[in-house]
Amino acid sequence: MNYCRLCNGISLENQTCFICMGILKDQGKIYDFYDDYSPYMEIELNKLADGDPESFQKSECVHLFVCEACGTQQELKIFYGC
Ligand SMILES: [Zn+2]
Ligand SMILES: [Zn+2]
Repeated sequence: MNYCRLCNGISLENQTCFICMGILKDQGKIYDFYDDYSPYMEIELNKLADGDPESFQKSECVHLFVCEACGTQQELKIFYGC
């Protein structure tokens, strides 16, 4: 399956904060926050669009998480189909 489970509303197990082990809350896709702002993201998007099936299989979705306990913002890669 080639989609991000978080984006499709299918919950993953709780992600934990690497600082305090608190519960991380999903704030949504990072693309929604940075849009056409980050050159890093442009590279990632171009890689997806170049039609290379191998890179497409490695597709991932980056989500922004916030720790409920300490408020730390963390970006986590959600790999498709896993
Ligand atoms: Zn996603
Ligand atoms: Zn924390």
